[in-house]
Amino acid sequence: MSHNTGVEEYRPLLTIVAPAYNEQEVLPEFHRRVSAVLDTLDVPAEILYVNDGSTDATLSVIRQLHADDRRVSLIDLSRNFGKEIAMTAGFDHARGEAVIVIDTDLQDPPELIPEMIRLWKAGHDVVYAQRESREGETWLKKATAHCFYRLIDRVAHVRVPRDTGDYRLLSQRAVQALRQIKEHHRFMKGLFAWVGFNQIAVPYRRDARYAGVSKWNYWKLWNFALEGITSFTTVPLRFATYLGLGTAALAFSYAVFVFWKALMYGDRVHGYPSLMIVILFLGGVQLMTLGVIGEYVGRTFNETKGRPLYFTNQVSLGTTNRQKAECPSGE
Ligand code: UDP
Ligand code: MG
Repeated sequence: MSHNTGVEEYRPLLTIVAPAYNEQEVLPEFHRRVSAVLDTLDVPAEILYVNDGSTDATLSVIRQLHADDRRVSLIDLSRNFGKEIAMTAGFDHARGEAVIVIDTDLQDPPELIPEMIRLWKAGHDVVYAQRESREGETWLKKATAHCFYRLIDRVAHVRVPRDTGDYRLLSQRAVQALRQIKEHHRFMKGLFAWVGFNQIAVPYRRDARYAGVSKWNYWKLWNFALEGITSFTTVPLRFATYLGLGTAALAFSYAVFVFWKALMYGDRVHGYPSLMIVILFLGGVQLMTLGVIGEYVGRTFNETKGRPLYFTNQVSLGTTNRQKAECPSGE
């Protein structure tokens, strides 16, 4: 406050965190639309682009935006770390009192920002955008997403709101809470809910991607679902326990039956098929249970290494709310 050191001192009211991975086609249009919205708001804002190891011209596009518009901040990660980490890097460097995370592919309409800010000023800590419709997505993606939200609702100990992506506003204390979470397996949707505070939804229509391709496929989605479940609940482990108990109970009844049959009718070395079935069934159950345990052991292994979450090539923070270097008249 008292000593003015320029760059360090600049505290925007709002930071827009925009993770970008190979978004060269969309970024100029994204920046235009976000800037248009910010201009109407007239609050000191910063747009913090996080280049997540893009292999196309994304970084030079961001550098150009940074050069042209002084409210643009830039973080260049040392490689592709994935969106969850890119967002985390954004939170770590965001200087705003409120932070908004938004996709750069324009699937999240920036026009929602004023409403988010209104709700934040009304005292909400987390204002999340909740989809009413999903344009440009297949029924299969919609169906799998629906099932996933239902499942995570049932088994996880946190209530993750349905049809909600990462697009949201976070207050200072929500961001500070998120900064303290150092885990590597970051299921952000769950973490956003887990930090608690006063949360509220803003309904919106999700558009199709403006340009470029989605980085998601079903295999990634499946792994994402696994991540969500394993970082928030140990229910699968308990399931393994009950599966084991159930199988043991079945095996015991079957043993009684076999013993009784041998006593009554003698043992004529039949039963090859039933023997095979039992062996294969038990083998299957054991391997599956081991797999479930393995999922958790693997995650424990990754977390115990305690590696830093990311490295950066460059961090350049914007210095002012004003566009371009020249100041408006009277200043
Ligand atoms: N993204 C990222 N790192 C990645 C993948 C994606 O920063 O490894 C960014 C991407 O640039 C976009 C956002 O995360 O701004 C959402 O990505 P995408 O559109 O591929 O996901 P979808 O909208 O299909 O869920
Ligand atoms: Mg997208």
